Amino acid sequence: MRTVRAILRRAATVRSAADLKRRVSSLPVLLFKIAASRHGRKAWSRNTARLVEAARKAGELKPEPGKKKIPPYRIFWSWDLNSSCNYGCPYCFYSSKDDSATLFLSPRDWGIIWRNIYKKYGRCRISVAGGEPSVYPEFPGVISAIAGAHSVEVSTNLSFDPEKLAGKVDPGMLTLNAGFHPLYAGFGDFLEKAGKFSAAGFRLTVSHVAYPAHNLEKIKEYMKEFNRAGIPFIVQPFRGVFRGRRYPDSYSEDEREILREAAETEQPLDERVKVSRPPGAASSEDVNRALRRHNLLKRKNLHKKCRMGQMYAKVYPDGSIYRCCAPDARKMGHIADPGFRLYGTPQSCESLECCCYKRMRAGEESEWMRFWK
Ligand code: SF4
Ligand code: SF4
Repeated sequence: MRTVRAILRRAATVRSAADLKRRVSSLPVLLFKIAASRHGRKAWSRNTARLVEAARKAGELKPEPGKKKIPPYRIFWSWDLNSSCNYGCPYCFYSSKDDSATLFLSPRDWGIIWRNIYKKYGRCRISVAGGEPSVYPEFPGVISAIAGAHSVEVSTNLSFDPEKLAGKVDPGMLTLNAGFHPLYAGFGDFLEKAGKFSAAGFRLTVSHVAYPAHNLEKIKEYMKEFNRAGIPFIVQPFRGVFRGRRYPDSYSEDEREILREAAETEQPLDERVKVSRPPGAASSEDVNRALRRHNLLKRKNLHKKCRMGQMYAKVYPDGSIYRCCAPDARKMGHIADPGFRLYGTPQSCESLECCCYKRMRAGEESEWMRFWK
């Protein structure tokens, strides 16, 4: 009854059709907040890992057994926590200062949401990105609230204080993919922060875009320092137009040599990090070919069965869930809706064009399983 009263109270203050539309789309969040406030502190603990373990022993958590038998044998989520970033890298397609659509919830509320997901699907792998996720309010608290139940990977520019996160999260449950952006971060500071995370036991890789405006000669120094610190360092070729010239085709021979050397001296990385790059981009000589091949992956998959939406989902900053990151992918629901469910079986693809080399086409598991580990 209290829930109905709260909805009616809000309905009485609707100002326009656009306002109504906005409120309807935020209804799952309202319902979630009412439910969460009723369950109170019992529903959440700062130490989610301990809570989950206790609930599992009590038989309260019963993940769907079926999902564990379906390739890739666990659920993967990509979660864009927010859309704004404190940097403005010229080679970035994703940066913005606009967080007007972002869903802001407390660590406690996110803990409840992801614990509900755990109840349904067991331990998942969650890749958190943005924007820059560390500018989200109470970011360390949000990560620590979910990293006990799920294994979490965060893509970040490392602009935050490592100590705020290091003491809160079990290093075994968190991986950091840190981007080094010299236009905004000094190399010494960045290396020191990366070293702190590494020393605290977190798995950490550093990536760097070979943007033509940077002094690419410096890549050699970066390589040397990261190698010395035992931190895997990946150099990504710039893809786009700089001063009227299209890259990566326009790298000079000297620049290609630097990229080649960087690729050759990369420390051994685990398979998951390696495969997150365009397939074949192992050396600078392969770069152009690999990117062309990547473009050629755009294929019509209309009506073909895909496990995206069954074993993977993408969460956008406003909380809406889509089956994959294709621009015309199907919306599946909202992360704050406790009744949300992934598809039970592979579904037909509704996108006109798919350029995802990790797509989970049913029956073609041998082609994509290596990307999902
Ligand atoms: S730090 Fe990352 S998200 Fe932010 S502008 Fe640079 S590349 Fe984009
Ligand atoms: S085939 Fe591609 S576009 Fe279609 S659902 Fe799968 S990943 Fe998405």
